[in-house]
Amino acid sequence: MQQYREIKARNADAIVFFRMGDFYEMFFDDAELAARELGLTLTTRNNGGAANVPLAGVPVKAARDYLRRLVDRGFRVAVCEQVEDPKHAKGIVKREVVETITPGAVLADDWLEGSQNNFLVAVTEGDPWGLAALDLSTGEFVLETVAASEIDGALSRYAPREIVIREGAAMPWPDSPTVTERDTSEFDVGHATKTVADHFGLHGLDGLGVLPADGPAVAAAGALLRYVYELQPGGIPQIARPEVRRSGDTVPLDPMTRRNLELVESLREGEQRGTLLTVVDRCVTPMGGRLLRQWLLAPLRDVDRIRARLEAVGALVADRRGRERVRDALDGVRDLQRLGGRVATGRGSPRDFGGLRDSLGRLPDVLNALHALATPGALLEHHTDTLDLLSDLTEPLVRLLADRPPAAIGEGDAIRPGADATLDEARDDRDGGKRFIAGLQAGERTRTGIPSLKVGYNKVFGYYIEITKAHKHAVPADYERRQTLTNAERYVTPELKDYESRVLTAEERVVHRERVLMAELAALVTDRLDRLQHTATLIGVLDVLQAFAETAAREQWVAPTVTGEFALELRGSRHPVVERLLPPGRFIPNDITLDEAGRIILLTGPNMAGKSTVLRQTGLAVLLAQIGSFVPARSATIGVVDRIFTRVGATDDLGRGQSTFMVEMSETSAILHAATNRSLVLLDEIGRGTSTYDGVAIAWAVTEHLHDRIGCKTIFATHYHELTQLTEDLHHARNFNVAVQESGDRIVFMYRLVPGGADRSYGIHVGRLAGLPTGVVGRAEEILSLLESGHQVAGEAPPPRPDAHQLALFHAGHHPVLAELAKLDPNTLSPLEALNRLAELKRQVDHRE
Ligand code: ATP
Repeated sequence: MQQYREIKARNADAIVFFRMGDFYEMFFDDAELAARELGLTLTTRNNGGAANVPLAGVPVKAARDYLRRLVDRGFRVAVCEQVEDPKHAKGIVKREVVETITPGAVLADDWLEGSQNNFLVAVTEGDPWGLAALDLSTGEFVLETVAASEIDGALSRYAPREIVIREGAAMPWPDSPTVTERDTSEFDVGHATKTVADHFGLHGLDGLGVLPADGPAVAAAGALLRYVYELQPGGIPQIARPEVRRSGDTVPLDPMTRRNLELVESLREGEQRGTLLTVVDRCVTPMGGRLLRQWLLAPLRDVDRIRARLEAVGALVADRRGRERVRDALDGVRDLQRLGGRVATGRGSPRDFGGLRDSLGRLPDVLNALHALATPGALLEHHTDTLDLLSDLTEPLVRLLADRPPAAIGEGDAIRPGADATLDEARDDRDGGKRFIAGLQAGERTRTGIPSLKVGYNKVFGYYIEITKAHKHAVPADYERRQTLTNAERYVTPELKDYESRVLTAEERVVHRERVLMAELAALVTDRLDRLQHTATLIGVLDVLQAFAETAAREQWVAPTVTGEFALELRGSRHPVVERLLPPGRFIPNDITLDEAGRIILLTGPNMAGKSTVLRQTGLAVLLAQIGSFVPARSATIGVVDRIFTRVGATDDLGRGQSTFMVEMSETSAILHAATNRSLVLLDEIGRGTSTYDGVAIAWAVTEHLHDRIGCKTIFATHYHELTQLTEDLHHARNFNVAVQESGDRIVFMYRLVPGGADRSYGIHVGRLAGLPTGVVGRAEEILSLLESGHQVAGEAPPPRPDAHQLALFHAGHHPVLAELAKLDPNTLSPLEALNRLAELKRQVDHRE
């Protein structure tokens, strides 16, 4: 317990898995927590008269699963092993924490999701923020400086399971499950520069493309590396040289925009179905899957880089056979990044080695497929030239590994028969028992002339030669008697004893030799890990490009013309996700143009008409183009945007503890502060969460600001028909509506975008469709027509809306005038009578007010 207490004191913030023989034991609070979280039985242990110590344990064999469950729930677990053989220990066995597993530092393990990175992110706060992101399982490492206004978006792009911050720093991101605080000195730039340089064996960071302005990111990187060293005292797998990203390289997507456009998760919490990712994810490798997600969340701004990707996609679209070859070749490539990491850190199973061999074995096909492309373009040509096939690694893997290596050493042959003489011999000893005995028996029968001589085995005496008493006289001199039975004697010979010791240790020798050979293979992988990572990255890029091409071909998307100009012009544009949910051919394409003359589209139209869809499909087309993908349209010209903002009124953020309207206003304000004239702003209702007057007023002023001050491309979908009057003053704004046709009291949705404003919302109609009780629908229609007739004040803007007091006026049964009116039958009244009654009613109303 003293040893435990010392170790626990040094790992106070982790659950300590304390190795005792075949179990990991947990004590005290750890035991109680583990019992609760894992459903383990809590027992107690009495230690030399001291108070009972709560105790819970998990068998070592099943430990991975328990570990995983704890780490998944955001806990950290320090694994404390016996670091000397108990057989040789004097006194208490020495124990040490060999690794600490945290949500952000899961080392190359199979419990990670293949299609997603597991980033551990460290941040330094300021303007700009510094950010360092490391995926230990793949070796990817990124240094990024981010404008303070964009930190939320940048962090959510990495979706870190764990964030490392300066002690006492304000937590930048409320959603992060695990926060690790580190001493402020860890974030010192000078100190950090040395840590990073040392890690890569460099004198300084110039060689990594790091500039002085990247200082904040370097500071974060230093803190991050030192934290990881502590978690893995045994050493960490190779980390790739960092990719340096800076504000301005990519289009920042704030969390709201990312969610509204349903890029990687749908608005229904956590679901992946119905997202852009699912539409374009035709990747066949895990590297591609992870990179695609990264690309989706970081659209490019540089026209040339975008065009380079588009050119490659175009080449793959145009050459269908070539594309199929590339896809087929990539298909067998497994997770090179994670397999490589696992194997290089000595955690690889024989099956992992097999996966690596099989994946590397596909590379020549990949290269041939690339060579065969008709007009590959610069990016793919660069791929072809730089793809390292690693044949110096493939060759020994193929030569040594068994065809189907087992999940663990000792559970079957990991090494191919014939590959290693020592191993073959040990295996012969192990497997050759029967053959040897048959041979020995036959030989000894000839030698002694005793036909009934038998070789046998029992647990107590081991191998023996049995000779019946009748033949006792013929026993050779080198036979040594071991046991006497009623009718027979049992003997051993030196040859048999030697054989016995070989057979009995054979299994051990087989396992040992396999381990040695696997370790040699692992060393080969470790030596080549940077090359392996490079190849894995290229495979990822190629996979994403072919996925874009495959999607474009199957979904009939077109190559956008990407320019540095302002204008955005989509012809026959579709929403890639909504289109898929509808029967084929049912989605109505639309033309959308935003140019200098018409920067702002005020989009009105009934509920359900398709306004949000138009809005989102515009955002998605721009985003797709800027990640280098084709777009769902008949033709598209896209002036690169620097930001995409969306605001959708419908999403309440109650989970964040802010009132709906407050959230709406802070988002709107963030957009107005950050948008430039090169931004794309998509507003789906503004000002709905307050009174009508306030709402219209705010929406009105926001539109003017976007028009006069910012000058960005904007689509504003709204039910405030009052806003359609804005186009009279705002010369760069245009009214559009999504058309419906009325037939009787029904309306038919046309889903067609047409110029001009809508004057009705048909909200009651939608209410009827949604099953509001007939009484309510009828009553609403009554109230609506009264409201409309009472307030048609042409030319006056914004027209007044009724308040609760006015509405009460019209509630039959509560107002005497209404009761009177209800009793009247106009058909029986003379004109004069009617006029009198009207005057009377009017007086009653005036009197009442
Ligand atoms: P609200 O004002 O009530 O929010 P809206 O005008 O924003 O409604 P959307 O949510 O965009 O309407 O569209 C409603 C539904 O109409 C979609 O879910 C889709 O099924 C269908 N729809 C939208 N656009 C089209 C289209 N172009 N072609 C065919 N169906 C469409």
